[in-house]
Amino acid sequence: MSDVDYRKRFVVEPGKRVKLAKIDPSYCGKHLAEEDARSEAERYGHKLNKLQDLLYSEARHSLLIVLQAMDAGGKDGTVRHAIGSMNPMGADVTAFKQPTAEELKHDFLWRVHPHAPAKGMVAIFNRSHYEDVLVVRVHKLVKKSVWSKRYELINDFERLLRHENNTQVIKFFLHISPEEQLKRFHERLTDPARNWKISEDDYKEREYWDDYMKAYEDVFAETSTRHAPWYIIPANHKWFRNLAVSQIEAATMEDLGMKMPKPQVNLARIHQEYHRASEAQSSGTVK
Ligand code: AMP
Ligand code: MG
Repeated sequence: MSDVDYRKRFVVEPGKRVKLAKIDPSYCGKHLAEEDARSEAERYGHKLNKLQDLLYSEARHSLLIVLQAMDAGGKDGTVRHAIGSMNPMGADVTAFKQPTAEELKHDFLWRVHPHAPAKGMVAIFNRSHYEDVLVVRVHKLVKKSVWSKRYELINDFERLLRHENNTQVIKFFLHISPEEQLKRFHERLTDPARNWKISEDDYKEREYWDDYMKAYEDVFAETSTRHAPWYIIPANHKWFRNLAVSQIEAATMEDLGMKMPKPQVNLARIHQEYHRASEAQSSGTVK
């Protein structure tokens, strides 16, 4: 059976308004369970690894992966999985927390731009500039007249990255249900290895669930563009989330049309040098 193209399945078409309540966060396609998807997942992992090598060695393009989700939505796990199959030398991860006093004295993109990927690199944002039209809006941290202008500024920023630095931007919303969130909060509470993830605000934030969904729906309608698309990933099942994200990443990189760079040196001459060195080695002229 040929693989489902998750880019087509989960992309938010530019300008389209989606209703998150109508998207099933437990969807897992044709797969019934994790074991079913294992070989497909391994294949994408392999592909990703090769493509990232190519991205790094060609050093012409770069990839920016934006991850957004509600608390316990699986951002950390997705980072771990996405990085797992990559060469760490070619990848950077940045987590965006509450802005510092210094950051608040600047425009909202000031703290973001330095983390945009250099040519050849993959950058992953765990939360991002989108918090400035999400949490900031939901908690009325700035006036509507301020946050409502930010969609356009974000689109301009992402276009700048593309035009000036060949940066391909892809944005994932990891879609979980409130029930799944509560289940994961419970795991955090009962598993000592996860206690550290608990935040004072977790339960308070949950009460704003509907406001967040509305804010996300506006984000998708305003900022899913042909060149920097949003994908809504059903994320109640972690294995399916990882599968979909890695397929989309791999397909996106494949479309960049990358080629191994030509060697910078004269290979024929280096061959001769190698032979000279190996003759000297076997005749005992050098140790
Ligand atoms: P976590 O990702 O769970 O470590 O939490 C980071 C917290 O920082 C979340 O509650 C975010 O909503 C918050 N945060 C991130 N960016 C911003 C921002 N620009 N303004 C206000 N809060 C933010
Ligand atoms: Mg948190």
